[in-house]
Amino acid sequence: MKSFVEIGIEGGFLKAIEELGFEKPMPVQEKVIPQLLSDEGNDIVALAQTGTGKTAAFGLPLLQRVNTKNKKTQHVIISPTRELCVQIAEDLKDYSKYNDKIKIVAVFGGASIEHQIKAIKRGAHIISATPGRLLDLIKRRVVDLRNIKTVVLDEADEMLNMGFREDLEAILTDTPKEKQALLFSATMPKEVKKIADKFMNNAIEFTVGKKNAGAENVSHICYSVHAKDRYLALKRIVDFNPNVYGIVFCRTRRETQDVAEKLMQDGYNADALHGDLSQAQRDVVMGKFRVKHISLLVATDVAARGLDVTDLTHVINYNLPDELEIYTHRSGRTGRAGKFGISIIISNLKEKRKISLIEKQIGKKIEHLPVPLGKEICKVQLFHVIDRMQKVAVDSAQIDEFIPEISKKLEWLDRDELIKKFVSVEFNRFTEYYKNTPDLNKPSDERKSRKDRDGGSNRRNTQQGYTRFFLNLGQMDKIRPVDLIGMVNDFTGIRDIEIGEIDIKKTFSFFEVDSKFKDELLTAFNTQTYKGRKVNLEISGKEPAKKSRSSRSDRRNRDGDKPRFKSGRKSSRGSRNSSEKSDRKRYKK
Ligand code: ADP
Ligand code: MG
Repeated sequence: MKSFVEIGIEGGFLKAIEELGFEKPMPVQEKVIPQLLSDEGNDIVALAQTGTGKTAAFGLPLLQRVNTKNKKTQHVIISPTRELCVQIAEDLKDYSKYNDKIKIVAVFGGASIEHQIKAIKRGAHIISATPGRLLDLIKRRVVDLRNIKTVVLDEADEMLNMGFREDLEAILTDTPKEKQALLFSATMPKEVKKIADKFMNNAIEFTVGKKNAGAENVSHICYSVHAKDRYLALKRIVDFNPNVYGIVFCRTRRETQDVAEKLMQDGYNADALHGDLSQAQRDVVMGKFRVKHISLLVATDVAARGLDVTDLTHVINYNLPDELEIYTHRSGRTGRAGKFGISIIISNLKEKRKISLIEKQIGKKIEHLPVPLGKEICKVQLFHVIDRMQKVAVDSAQIDEFIPEISKKLEWLDRDELIKKFVSVEFNRFTEYYKNTPDLNKPSDERKSRKDRDGGSNRRNTQQGYTRFFLNLGQMDKIRPVDLIGMVNDFTGIRDIEIGEIDIKKTFSFFEVDSKFKDELLTAFNTQTYKGRKVNLEISGKEPAKKSRSSRSDRRNRDGDKPRFKSGRKSSRGSRNSSEKSDRKRYKK
């Protein structure tokens, strides 16, 4: 295997990727980089799965070929989603950390076009774009592709799936004949083939196999807790790993759904994948996970089989599988593509024997660690906030004019106080939540006397400022809390409504909503139908009495008091709302 130097990577780029931990080129890089750096480089069509290292494969040579003396756009990379497009631009900026004359701009829909136009006018040697926005900018004559050297179509199959064929054709028609074109796709359906045939010449075609042997890159950790503390332990583990991107394996569909729902209710970017979902529903969930809209996928073994994601940071065994072999499959899903992965087991105290059998099977020691304490988690989260703060891009154009006024307002704070305040804005929800949480490693009778805020069970009546509604839809209509939140969003068209307790019964439901929106809700709901039934929403007449512990939804939530929700799913990682359910504070995004 060749080294990066041998395939032509030089100077600052070498240094930058070394710092990122790239030691050897991955197969797709070994193929693509020399092609792009040679004079008579061919077009390339590559069948490559995600996680195979494509970004650096095209990114490094493109960066190296940028002529910084020329202000014009020289390379364009087109990808299907805003996330990918931003990710590519970020990766390229990382690679060119020591070559900072190179200007890279990301343009994508759903954000202010004026800013993007300004950024391009300041200079964009490389543009990373989604198809629609790029075409728009071409039409406005902000972007001119008539002299570009390279165009990259990343995740071409995904772009065509999303209906970007016409946009892509229009864009490609606008590029010069002599350019070099690269097309990457995980699959090669007819549509993709057509684009390749129409717009590419003498293309070299190749396939990058999946890299599977990752076992040596995986370390194994076991946390032992009481069976009833499993979910709380999961939350701690996740909070202790702020950048987690992983699969949580459960044993049954029911458990999968339960854990996913609880995580969602607690504000994590999670969703469920199991056999009770239709193929279309599964595709949606998998799609969201692939593009990292979801960072925790709660899945059964069977359902996760069809999922091909290679850059998982963690695999979490919420429950151990019955067959030990399955554990090997599960943990083999992380630690791929040259990366390091962690397989976590949440075991109960009776599973010691099983753990040692697994050790034999995998030929490795499993490290036993205590469940992180609230204080430890807070520390990790605190530094995560600081890290994000250091990395955040500052949009001077937007804020500069307000800075004098803001500085004046904050004059009375010294530097330390200022830091404390800013950090607390983001961080208080964690301290609040973890302030009095018990040590899950202690036997539970030792902590009985303490108020278990993790699992507190104090019920309450409708809260001040909230109105309790009766809705004529329930479990029979397959309504889940997420669906209800979705309805509140969709029917009213307002995304910021605070939603309190949700209680879904067999044929009807109760839920609480910020009283401010009482009228909007009544008007919006009562003109709707749901799966052919007329929706009926009323203000619930009686003050709810103390609920009986035996109702189904109560049992489902036995690990904690009913959570509070905020409508509108979060999609940005790191903005998790871990506010405890009994905590009455609410947080704006
Ligand atoms: P793809 O675009 O094929 O899905 P990426 O370009 O996003 O894959 O790369 C997947 C992961 O592998 C990224 O985290 C990237 O930083 C890492 N990576 C890429 N090239 C190398 C390498 N040569 N050595 C180690 N890690 C790499
Ligand atoms: Mg990619």
